[in-house]
Formats: sequence, C-alpha cells, structure tokens
Amino acid sequence: MRKVSLFCTKCGKAFPVDSSNFRCDICNEPLELELVTKGKIREGNILRQSILERYADFFPFKDLNEDISLHEGFTPLIKSKVVSELLDFKSIYFKNEGENPTWAYKDRGTIVALQHALKLGYNKVGTVSCGNMAVSVAAYGSRAGLKTFIFLKENMPDEKLGPVAIYNPISVKVQGFYGDLYDKSLEIGKKNDIYFLNSDIPFRVEGSKTISFEICEQLDFAVPDYIVMPSGSGGNFRGVEKGFRELKNCGLIDKIPKIICVQAAGCSPVYNAFKNNEETIKRVQEAETIALAIANPFPPSGNQVLRRLKENGGTCVAVADELIVEAQRLLALEGIFVQPSSAAPLAAIKKLKEENYLTGNEKIACILTAGGLKVPSALAKHKFQTYDCELENLDQFIKTNFLN
Ligand SMILES: *Cc1c(COP(=O)(O)O)cnc(C)c1O
Ligand SMILES: [Zn+2]
Repeated sequence: MRKVSLFCTKCGKAFPVDSSNFRCDICNEPLELELVTKGKIREGNILRQSILERYADFFPFKDLNEDISLHEGFTPLIKSKVVSELLDFKSIYFKNEGENPTWAYKDRGTIVALQHALKLGYNKVGTVSCGNMAVSVAAYGSRAGLKTFIFLKENMPDEKLGPVAIYNPISVKVQGFYGDLYDKSLEIGKKNDIYFLNSDIPFRVEGSKTISFEICEQLDFAVPDYIVMPSGSGGNFRGVEKGFRELKNCGLIDKIPKIICVQAAGCSPVYNAFKNNEETIKRVQEAETIALAIANPFPPSGNQVLRRLKENGGTCVAVADELIVEAQRLLALEGIFVQPSSAAPLAAIKKLKEENYLTGNEKIACILTAGGLKVPSALAKHKFQTYDCELENLDQFIKTNFLN
C-alpha cells in the first residue's frame, strides 16, 4: 500500500490505511481515503485491461491482484435519443451499469475493496445486503476463493435468494432489526477477522470513483453539467463525487458537475434533511417503495452526502413510485431495461424539468445503477398489451389489425 491516510469525513481524525477501520471511533461517521491530487489515466486496451490497472494512479495499491477481476466497469455511456426527444432535452446520457458482471455497479466497489482485504491478509469476507451487493460479494468471494458470509433479512424472498445462493456463500437470514445489522456486522468482522464489504466502506467508495473517470473519458473530458444518480446508503454518491474532484485536482477536467441525488419518496431521509437544511439525517420509520435498492431508512453515509451536496451545489430530489414506474417504461422505450431504483434518476429529471430547475439545455449524465432482470416482480406494476391469434389466421390478423 502507498503511504496515504484515511480521514474521518466529519472531524478529520486520521487512521492508517493498512487497517480495517471503516468508521471514526469518535463520531461514528464514515472514513474516507485522502484526495488524490496527482495522477493520470493509464493508456491501454480496455478489452484486456481492468479498471484497477487503467486507474491505478487513483488507488493506493502498489501491486494489483487482477486474477480476481471479472472485467467489471467499462460500461457504455449511451446518448439518449427517444427519451430526450420525449422530454425535450438536448443532451442526456445513460451510464448503463447493468452491464457489469453481476448486473449492477456494485462490482466496482467489490473488486477494489477486495484488493484491500487481500492486502491486509484476510481470507474471510462478508456483507449485509438483500440485493445487488449480496450478489456481487458472493460472486467475487467465490472467484477469489474466500469464505464469504452474506447476512440477509429474515423474510428474504426466494426470488432474491437464488441469485445470491448460486455462488455458494454462507447465507444467513438474520432475525431481528435489520437496521442494526450494519454496525453489528462490522463488530463481528473485527472480532473474527472477517472483512465486511458493506455499502459505504472506504474502499467501496473508491471503486465508485471509476464511474466518474469513465464518464469523463467517454465525453472526451467535456464534463456534464449534471450527474443524476439514485442514492441509498450514500456510498456510490460519495465515490462519484470524489472521482470528479480528483480528476479536477489532477488537472484532467476544468469543472465538477453538480450532482442530483435521488431518493424514493417512500424512504427519503437524505432528502428530508436536505429540504429542511439540517446537518444530520433522521431515521425513517416506515420505508414504503418499489425502489428497494435505495430504500435505506438510515443511510450510514447520509450525513456525509449532505455535507458534500452543500459544497457541490447540487440538489436532492424525492420521487414517487408512480413516477419511477413511468421512468422505467420510458427507459425501455430507449431500449434499456433497468430496475426501479435505477429508473429513479430519470423520474427526477422529468420532475425537475416540470419545476423549471432544469431547462432542457443542460448536458446531463444519468447513472443507471443496475439491470431490470434483477427485479422481475416490478414488471407486475406495468400494463402490457398482448394479442391472441390462431396460426392459420395470423397473416390475415396482422394485415387487418396492424398494416392498414
Ligand atoms: C446499491 C444500489 C444503489 C444505491 O447505492 P448506495 O451506494 O447504497 O447509495 C442504487 N441503485 C442500485 C440498483 C443499487 O443496487
Ligand atoms: Zn470523527
């Protein structure tokens, strides 16, 4: 490991990087790696390279363990055609994170945090999740040959259990208050030498920086005016925001986009605090939304998201489920099928245009965090039209109904 430090995002207390400290022992706020201020993007062939190698200057590793890579990242940035026309925007881009090895952006943080865990000599890893992170950690844990613990909610439906269990981790459905499991797992990890790759741990945040690096490369460093992204724990927001700041510090871009942090109206602790100009989030009692991947009632990085948002000049929006479902349909018209949480940013774009916060002239990159096939149950929210017809009548049926 290079000589860098971890700092508390609130009080600034320093911690050594070659330790598995994730939160400050004084404020219990998340720790973060110091800002990279010197570095460049490595040349190379991205068909063969890993994100670890291409962006090596932005990670503190002296050498890399690339055998465990599944070629995460390097996802497409797709220029909107259908949606931008429908909503009257000049320039919207979709970063399609569904094209990752486990169909969500989580793989970026998993590979980077695993590098750290392996450097520190861990042979056991774990996570707390009922969704995309559980799948990602189970997949990479298996590939790396590590004993892998996944702590799940007690009422985890089989539809969501299968995609985790297939990788053969130790899956534990934990009875009790799920909200306590984040802290509890870190405590168990410390005692038993298990590295818990939870939602917003420092090295997971480092992995999310690569989303920003790629967006800049894909736009030839002409950075967007706005990044619109869903936020649950706040880990991904922190990584994306930090990524842009690092590129600016390294002289690779000349401005930092404003970030629009999107939550579901049925669970919006960060939005509630932002709207009321408060410095700390309050726990949401009842989370009620279709966007489960961002339904975190007490985001462990919520306060840091508030601090960074203020500095960044962006905003926070909460969108209702109906708008999210509509946005999911709109994205499908574009040819992209995402899960509800990943449709939330487009719902926010539509809402912000109606409220005249956005004019339609801005250059916007929207982060679509995960693919739609991961939440098939959400399809029940849509009405689809199908037709029935006998084989011998098919020719006539098509002619009379659709070709006149
Ligand atoms: C995890 C996840 C998010 C939220 O990311 P955080 O880092 O927890 O804020 C958003 N969308 C999808 C699809 C996710 O899986
Ligand atoms: Zn602190």
